[in-house]
Amino acid sequence: MKVTEIRAKSILNRHKKRDDWFLDDYSANPYGGCSFNCVYCYIRGSKYGTDKQGISVKVNGPELLRKQLKRRAERGEYGIIALGSATEPYMPIEEKYGLTRKSLEIILEFRFPVEVGTKSTLILRDLDLLKEIDRNACLPEDLKRKPGRGAIVIFSFSTLNADLAGIFEPGAPEPEERLETMKKCSEAGLLAGAAFIPILPFLSDSEETLDEMMGKARDYGARFVFVGGLTLFGNKPSDCRMTYFRTLERHFPELVPPYKRLFLGSFAPPRTYQRELEKRARELASKYGLQYGLT
Ligand code: SF4
Repeated sequence: MKVTEIRAKSILNRHKKRDDWFLDDYSANPYGGCSFNCVYCYIRGSKYGTDKQGISVKVNGPELLRKQLKRRAERGEYGIIALGSATEPYMPIEEKYGLTRKSLEIILEFRFPVEVGTKSTLILRDLDLLKEIDRNACLPEDLKRKPGRGAIVIFSFSTLNADLAGIFEPGAPEPEERLETMKKCSEAGLLAGAAFIPILPFLSDSEETLDEMMGKARDYGARFVFVGGLTLFGNKPSDCRMTYFRTLERHFPELVPPYKRLFLGSFAPPRTYQRELEKRARELASKYGLQYGLT
């Protein structure tokens, strides 16, 4: 994959409104693009108007983050930073550049809370920093009770089946490795959870499969779970709607007609499907003693 070093103009984004699900007020992405190449991923295509291939490395990211966080800390504008919200923060390239680690060092220095979403085992390298952040972060008043933690780690899965994951998430560590990593984070005392997003229709959305996912999440140390449906955007060759349908045609041709019906004229399945998925997910989370969401 082509790697380009760039100098970014800004690294810390403040949201107009706190994210309802993940509770972050800020996001910061040390890299652009992603080498995990999930078939359903929309960052590669034109949804955000980028339509770029390859990875960009924001080499001045830490320097920018320091300036921006210093200013926010002086004003007391604390809020959870989603690190790597638009891409994987622990791609293999992080071993070379270390921008995620440097970002965490700065986040610790200015005592911001952080949330890391990942599919990677490399997060274990930074357990020392994450634990320090967890102990020292200043939380906004209304988040002090729940989630009440300075560091949150979220592992994402679309399936726990290694063969399916090999097809739909070809560059990412296997689900079993992610589960083991989640367990280690949890055993280290971090607040860890699983985001089953996106659940793949007809492939990972059966009652039995969802039940297995929740059971495994509990067994591997998750304290909370999220479940979300698949979205398919765009009609350019690199857009996820196109890459997803090409993958179905190749591996599951029998599923092409039902998918066409499910996504008829929309980027998502009908509301009834989404509501049913969430209802079942909440029931199963409760069955396994898992919190649904972060609050
Ligand atoms: S790991 Fe995340 S950012 Fe990377 S390709 Fe997969 S969905 Fe996209």
